[in-house]
Amino acid sequence: MSEAVRYDDFVEENDENIIQVKNLKKYYPISGGMFSQVKGYVKAVDDVSFDIKRGTTMGLVGESGCGKTTIGKTILRLTDKTSGSVKFDGIEIHDLNRRDLRALRPRIQIIFQDPYSSLSPRMPVGEIIGEAVREKKLVPEAEFDEYITRIMKDCGLQEYHKDRYPHEFSGGQRQRICIARALALNPEFIVCDEPVSALDVSIQAQIINLLKDLQEKYDLTYLFISHDLSVVEHISDTVGVMYLGNLVEYADKESIFRNPLHPYTQALFSAIPVPDPDFKAERIILEGSIPSPANPPSGCKFHTRCRYAMDICSREVPLMQEMEEGHKVACHLYNKE
Ligand code: SF4
Repeated sequence: MSEAVRYDDFVEENDENIIQVKNLKKYYPISGGMFSQVKGYVKAVDDVSFDIKRGTTMGLVGESGCGKTTIGKTILRLTDKTSGSVKFDGIEIHDLNRRDLRALRPRIQIIFQDPYSSLSPRMPVGEIIGEAVREKKLVPEAEFDEYITRIMKDCGLQEYHKDRYPHEFSGGQRQRICIARALALNPEFIVCDEPVSALDVSIQAQIINLLKDLQEKYDLTYLFISHDLSVVEHISDTVGVMYLGNLVEYADKESIFRNPLHPYTQALFSAIPVPDPDFKAERIILEGSIPSPANPPSGCKFHTRCRYAMDICSREVPLMQEMEEGHKVACHLYNKE
C-alpha cells in the first residue's frame, strides 16, 4: 500500500491530460427569510479532483443527485464554479473572458440525455447540425454542404435526412443528430450526460458503439456520465464513483470492476446483473435514502448507510489514498494507522 495522498496531490501535471480538475467545488446558496439571507449551501460538488487522458473515456457514476451532471456543466463552464480549478488542454477555463470562452467553445461540447428537447422542432436537421458551423465559419461556404453530409454519414445518418425535421426521427436517430451537431464543431472533449438513458436497450448499444467509433476516428475524449454501470463498463477507460458531491473512488476500469474498494462502490456494483444463471452474487442493499446535500452527514458522508461504519467515520473526512497504481479510494477502512 502506498502513502496516502491529499486531494492537492491527486491530479498529475501531465500534458497527456486534456482535462485536469482540482479541488473543484460548486455550492448553491440556500436563501430564505424576509431579506433573502443566505442560510446555507447545497454542496453539489465538494472538493473533487481527477484528470482525463487525451483520447480516453472517464465514466462518472453514482445515484441521482450526487453531483455528476454539475461536474460536467462546471467543466464546460455552463455553470460557474465556487472554487477550485478546471483546466482544458492547460487552459484555466473559468479564467477566460467572454470572447476567449466563445472561441474555445467548439472544442468542448456536450450531448444531453433527452435528444428531443435539445433539438429545435422548427429547423430541418441539416440546419441544426450546420448552424454553429456556419456561425463560427469553421469551413468555407463552398465546402459547407459536403462537410455536413460527411459528418452526418459518420454518425449513421443519410444525406436526404438534411431536409427532415426532428419529429420525423426515432429516439436513436435523434441522438445521432445531437452527436452530429456536436461533432460538426470539431471538438476534442465531449461531456456525454446520460446519452443513452432514454433509449431502448437495443438502440443503446448502437449509440455506444457509434461513440466509440467516433472516438477512434477523431481522437475524442469523453466524460461519460451515467447511472448504468453496464454501459459505463463497456465504454470507459477509467471510472470515478461519486457520492453526495464527493469522488469516493477512482481507478482504471479493469481495476475498479475487478476489485471495488469503497463500500458504496461495492454496493453499486453488486447490483450489476451477471449473465450466468449459476452465479450467485451477493447483492448489497443500501439502507435508507441518499441524504440531502444541503445538510450532509459529518465525516464520511456515506457513514449513515455504510455497513462497515466505525466511530472515526462520523468524525473525520477520509482522505483519498492510492491503494495500487492509479486506484484511489476515500475510506477509513484503508487508513494505514
Ligand atoms: Fe464506510 Fe467509514 Fe469507509 Fe465511510 S469511511 S465508507 S463510513 S467505512
